[in-house]
Amino acid sequence: MSTASLPVRPILSPSRCLTDSHGRVIHDLRVSITDRCNYKCVYFRSGEGDERYNELSIAEYLRLIELFVGLGITKVRLTGGEPLLRRGLLEMVQELGRMRTIDGNPLDLAITTNGHMLAALAKPLKDSGLHRVTVSMDAVDAPVFEKITRVPGSFKAVLAGVRSAREAGLTPLKINCVLLRGFNDDQIPGFARFAREENVVVRFIEFMPLEEGRLWSPQIVVPLTEVVARIEATFPLVALPPRDAGETARRYNFADGVGEIGIIAPVTQAFCGACSRVRLTSDGKIRTCLFSQTDHDLYARLRAFPAPHGPSHKETIEAENEELRSFIWRTIQGKEARHHIGEPGFLKPSRSMVHIGG
Ligand code: SAM
Repeated sequence: MSTASLPVRPILSPSRCLTDSHGRVIHDLRVSITDRCNYKCVYFRSGEGDERYNELSIAEYLRLIELFVGLGITKVRLTGGEPLLRRGLLEMVQELGRMRTIDGNPLDLAITTNGHMLAALAKPLKDSGLHRVTVSMDAVDAPVFEKITRVPGSFKAVLAGVRSAREAGLTPLKINCVLLRGFNDDQIPGFARFAREENVVVRFIEFMPLEEGRLWSPQIVVPLTEVVARIEATFPLVALPPRDAGETARRYNFADGVGEIGIIAPVTQAFCGACSRVRLTSDGKIRTCLFSQTDHDLYARLRAFPAPHGPSHKETIEAENEELRSFIWRTIQGKEARHHIGEPGFLKPSRSMVHIGG
């Protein structure tokens, strides 16, 4: 269904721009819309248990997202768990497509997915108003891939998903690969070829201490400089200038002009000083940093209001919104200056990556 005919959802009483106490403008919201996942990737999931945290209704996520948009958020990325498992996803994307930023522009809408269900959903998602997807893939060899996901047939499904997304125009299509030394770093040359052959932007990500077990060590991280050197052994690269100050990936073109890769180096070349992100967990809690030690329960605040009724309903909702926006504003003031990966006394975050949303 086309979204062109749907009326715009105006943001009521837009407020200030969301700036933290370190002067960073926060304009990028990542929302986990389910804690469930159909993969149990070996390097960050123990394989035991499944979802741990609740899901809100789609209407509740929309209400919370609208509050952030009213404070200056311009980009919303849906994640999980696995967001394509979420019932009501297409309707949610449609509603997000009707929202406008405080400058009156459509939101920049993206999803991060493992791609397993994307072959069937790419076109409906595009038609619902989604702009881009990022697909997580940690290997290009089918057997290695399936050893990582612990799901037989997963490579074929994800490859079909990637191709459908490209055909549907969910582009530029990004593929994120988290690298662990001695585990999947032998996939680097294969991914370089994959980027060129499939016309996708492959981005290698340094492994961060966000897993359920205790795998992380500085030695397991494959640093940006090494990834570049290993690709250049086969394919010379040309570094590209950043498009904006908040760009997390260092980008490179292949020297012959065919294809692009990126490297996201949160460990060896941290970009916290330019962080523009805030996260909302599947159970409606704000996380100001991937490595936060606490969540801030926005949903509990919403639930604490009595059920609305009577003729002053609209004013009541607006008063509640104002209170919730103040809560978000205050929470953002406590956003951490930076992470402390690799430093003595580093504390693991209060949730692992699957329960935060990447
Ligand atoms: N299910 C979706 C997916 O697969 O993209 C969304 C959630 S998943 C947690 C998001 C991303 O986080 C995946 O690309 C995953 O590889 C990445 N990730 C998980 N653990 C990580 C870690 N310790 N360091 C860096 N990235 C990690």
